[in-house]
Amino acid sequence: MALGGARATTAVRKSARFTQADVRAAVAGLRGPVFFQASLREYTSFKIGGPADVVVEPADIEDVCLVVQQARARKIPLFVVGGTNLLIRDGGIRGIVVSLVRLRAIKEEPGHVLYAEGGVGMPTLIGYAIKHSLAGLEWAAGIPGTVAGCVVMNAGTKLGEMKDTVKAVHMVNLKGQTVDLEASQIPFEYRWARLPRGIVVGVSLQLKPGVRVEMEKVVKDYLHYRGDTQPLAMPSAGCVFKNPPNDSAGRLIETVGLKGARVGDAEVSTKHANFMVNRGQARAADVIALIGKVRTTIRRRVGVRLDLELKIVGEA
Ligand SMILES: Cc1cc2nc3c(=O)[nH]c(=O)nc-3n(C[C@H](O)[C@H](O)[C@H](O)COP(=O)(O)OP(=O)(O)OC[C@H]3O[C@@H](n4cnc5c(N)ncnc54)[C@H](O)[C@@H]3O)c2cc1C
Repeated sequence: MALGGARATTAVRKSARFTQADVRAAVAGLRGPVFFQASLREYTSFKIGGPADVVVEPADIEDVCLVVQQARARKIPLFVVGGTNLLIRDGGIRGIVVSLVRLRAIKEEPGHVLYAEGGVGMPTLIGYAIKHSLAGLEWAAGIPGTVAGCVVMNAGTKLGEMKDTVKAVHMVNLKGQTVDLEASQIPFEYRWARLPRGIVVGVSLQLKPGVRVEMEKVVKDYLHYRGDTQPLAMPSAGCVFKNPPNDSAGRLIETVGLKGARVGDAEVSTKHANFMVNRGQARAADVIALIGKVRTTIRRRVGVRLDLELKIVGEA
């Protein structure tokens, strides 16, 4: 079974030894909706991607446990999609794609702890925290992912990172059982958290008392800054490359004159060189070719190897 993170990329491709009848059996009895041959472009901010054998939207954590157990029994790979840091190849994803869009509960707990189910979007969570005068998440203003995806990616901005606020992570493991991890048990790295394999179904965040108007101002200013510097009106998956040590990938790409470079409808954004945008009908193959062009040019001209922040998954 393939679950969580970049490792899923390879596992999804290698292990497609199951039938469509197996897939149907693995999603039987779920209370959340099930979509066969679903277009994955609808689940991504890039608006790119081929079909999934099936997409499931578990109704609750119990439903997540059930689909994991049933998939495991039939050796069917699972892949979790939040959708905002993903490039899904044009052949789509074989096996079961899990979307947590229905896991949306948020609860304030004693000691300024905020618990959110994995499918809660960061913008919603920040809005809730501000309304309840809980400070500590303002750094994440403008990150569109789910709170679970933000933990997996250790999402961050100039103002902070996910690891600064995570108190505990609640997962469904490969056996379909719920497990809780304290933040101290999780090695967080630059844009990655070394979590055990499984599905993040909830996150507890340690926040602190805040002043609502002050938090609103930080968020508003940061959203303005993003609007001025990022191509937010076009489909994208945020930054494509990780920043090399002590430098900025966007600056390097701009230096070699690749702003505006295109392959098909995939374009290096003219507003922010570390974003690639879909000008309408871009295919994953176009984006991958453009990534190759940028990497090769930077390596040859600047001598720097750019690593991907974007996760590329699925079949060509
Ligand atoms: C306009 C824009 C701006 C952005 N700005 C930023 C930014 O400032 N900083 C930043 O860090 N990122 C940014 N991003 C990228 C993105 O929002 C983050 O990386 C975010 O953390 C991804 O969350 P997601 O839920 O969309 O996960 P996805 O992109 O779907 O998934 C990322 C990885 O996590 C895995 N995963 C997702 N959910 C789960 C789960 N529940 N359990 C186990 N594994 C899971 C996936 O399988 C995949 O390997 C931006 C994206 C866009 C489109």
